[in-house]
Amino acid sequence: MTKTLSVAQGREYLAIPGPSVMPEAVLRAMHRPAPNIYEGALIDLTASLIPDLKRVARTKHNAAIYIANGHGAWEAALSNTLAPGETVLVPATGRFGHGWADMARGLGAEAQILDFGKSAPWDMERIAEALRADADHRIKAVLAVHVDTSSSVRNDVEGLRALLDEVGHPALLMADCIASMACDRFEMDAWGVDVAVTGSQKGLMVPPGLGFVFFNDKAAAARDALPRVSRYWDWAPRADPEFFYQYFGGTAPTHHLFGLRAALDLIHDEGIDHVWARHERLARAIWAACEAWGQDGPLRLNVAGRAHRSHAVTALRVGAPQGSALRAWVSQNIGLTLGIGLGMAEPGDPAWHGFFRIGHMGHVNGHMVLGMLGGIEAGLTALDIPHGPGAVEAAAAVIAMG
Ligand SMILES: *Cc1c(COP(=O)(O)O)cnc(C)c1O
Repeated sequence: MTKTLSVAQGREYLAIPGPSVMPEAVLRAMHRPAPNIYEGALIDLTASLIPDLKRVARTKHNAAIYIANGHGAWEAALSNTLAPGETVLVPATGRFGHGWADMARGLGAEAQILDFGKSAPWDMERIAEALRADADHRIKAVLAVHVDTSSSVRNDVEGLRALLDEVGHPALLMADCIASMACDRFEMDAWGVDVAVTGSQKGLMVPPGLGFVFFNDKAAAARDALPRVSRYWDWAPRADPEFFYQYFGGTAPTHHLFGLRAALDLIHDEGIDHVWARHERLARAIWAACEAWGQDGPLRLNVAGRAHRSHAVTALRVGAPQGSALRAWVSQNIGLTLGIGLGMAEPGDPAWHGFFRIGHMGHVNGHMVLGMLGGIEAGLTALDIPHGPGAVEAAAAVIAMG
């Protein structure tokens, strides 16, 4: 009878773009008393994490672990590569590009931003112009956000390396892979990336609190040439520790390490290529549903071109206040939490309520995605938001047939 009967009891699904769903194996691995940090299991376990992390980043080079979120990993990467007064070039395709640029400014660097808006990928021609205009090579590094989680734009990091080589510019290529690692294909060494940063709480399926920085020899040389590096952020002792505590600059993040061990086991048991292919299949199912809804209503994928869409997060526009109303409805009625629109409009602006995002990173499978899409369909129906038919069928067809 009543339209508002809640069917939210049962297992909830947090479909926001980080923190992501945590596997039971990760939760179980963390459920233990405080371990000794001076000897025993934790020491061996930590040593085993380093090669497995490098396999995920597809690098043979160095890895440093920080007790930090993604912002900390950003600062770590910058602290080892930039001196005050040096310049970084930041091609921005959403809020996170601007955020990393701001971090560089906070360390006294000049950030030259190329703003490509909130729905479009990098324009390689404009980046080439900026690099060519920098004849005396003042740009020390290019800060490249692979997937900007606010817009869900995915950028061509490999193409950016080709561009740097073509122009003959020696800047470091630094990639933010916080939303893409273990979701979208990323090949640090094959793509010629000098520094890659990520965090624990997205594709790596561990709670927020660990930051990772991968760096090659060129980046290591840049660090060695700096007049000083702040002690906590210095990656050298972390990547080549003589003592266990040097991995972490102090007490180890004990439980996160057990969780990370379990998560890396899941990733490597599945195989990183399969992890990427799974994310792609699920993303295409989501896009198929969104395209069907959009045939007859206001819902739109934020990124028009498939090649430029993340496989881990999808940003959508549906018009205000429907975006917020839909999030509230699915949360209250079916136990599904969708992400807010981030950086698409300022909080306080009524337009802010016109956006939402779906997180589909990490421990996500076909039935979760189909359930989530069915839930959105219910919300659109309950709220009388016009939408085209056949969305869940279209998604099921992608999952079934590819
Ligand atoms: C989540 C995210 C960040 C910030 O990470 P925090 O852990 O929230 O500090 C930065 N960049 C990208 C691309 C992200 O997805």
